[in-house]
Amino acid sequence: MTPDVRDRIDRPPRVGSAPSPISEDTWRRALELIARTDEIALACHVSPDGDALGSMLATGFALRSMGKRVVASFGDRPFEVPRLLRYLPGQDMLVPPQDYPAAPELMMTFDSPSAERLGMIEPSLAAAREVIVVDHHPSNTGFGTLGLVDPGAAATTMLAEQLIYRLGGTLDRDIATCLYTGLVTDTGSFRHSSTSPAAHQMAARMVATGLRTDEIARELWDRSPFGYLKVLAAALDRVVLRDGLVWTYVTRVDRAAYGLPYSEIEGIIDIVRRTDEAEVAVVLKEDDEGAWQVSTRSKGTADVGSLCAAMGGGGHRNAAGFTSHESVDDTIGAIRRLLGKV
Ligand code: AMP
Ligand code: MN
Ligand code: MN
Repeated sequence: MTPDVRDRIDRPPRVGSAPSPISEDTWRRALELIARTDEIALACHVSPDGDALGSMLATGFALRSMGKRVVASFGDRPFEVPRLLRYLPGQDMLVPPQDYPAAPELMMTFDSPSAERLGMIEPSLAAAREVIVVDHHPSNTGFGTLGLVDPGAAATTMLAEQLIYRLGGTLDRDIATCLYTGLVTDTGSFRHSSTSPAAHQMAARMVATGLRTDEIARELWDRSPFGYLKVLAAALDRVVLRDGLVWTYVTRVDRAAYGLPYSEIEGIIDIVRRTDEAEVAVVLKEDDEGAWQVSTRSKGTADVGSLCAAMGGGGHRNAAGFTSHESVDDTIGAIRRLLGKV
């Protein structure tokens, strides 16, 4: 028998941020869907970051402790957790996309603004009977049958925490490690404008479980293979600053010379975006298939979320991305034209 989760609602207060757009009725329907389903299939966006994996695995732990069978995945090939995130507990829940249920009774997606961002998992989404979408992207397309979507949340893990409390779950160190990881990565270590009192209060609840914030910080930001320094040097050597836009690129040939996986270069944008003279920073990263994954960052004046949406991608006002199959020059040309408008 599944316990009646509605009797055990205990949620953290929202303090200092706009009222949640998620109604009590929506939360109740989500809890009901979960209560009546024995096997739940979780998915997060491709090339998962700390928020995507963290929110998915934390929820997986809570569902498991309710006696649910849980499978979790993301639609990448090859299927590999980025090295930075291998410290996250709960990776035994993960299955590669080819082993994912073809038509889940209940699917839950995390940190994914659209069906397309689920990559190889998308067919299961289309065939799922019910889909609960847990997300915080303003660009969320409204896919799925039930949306736990709050663009005011600094991270999807903030919504996952609410869900876990409402499910009657208790916060242990494993869940806290996953939730804190999403919070600390998506707020840029509490530096981005999304950092609310609620974000700091959530961090306090996580740290109180005894998790090692120093070890998490080291895993996330303070280590890399030697080859990263060489690839970074190549990227910085060809950086360009023009009209308030700073950009560079990293090719797969750069990475191959040092056997550096794609996920290792995600942080280069954080170095490039520090340029005082630039309002917008762009790093084009060639993936293993030869497509350019384009990271964009704004200091607040330009809306790179709209810019990337116009380029077929999405994201937030100050941090967004898209995929380009054009050359570096053509892609930068398109960005420069759009920047004239945003
Ligand atoms: P990144 O530059 O990869 O750190 O991504 C910054 C933000 O843009 C994140 O919120 C991503 O979810 C979003 N984003 C990145 N790439 C894409 C894409 N191809 N399509 C839609 N959103 C994206
Ligand atoms: Mn994400
Ligand atoms: Mn996120």
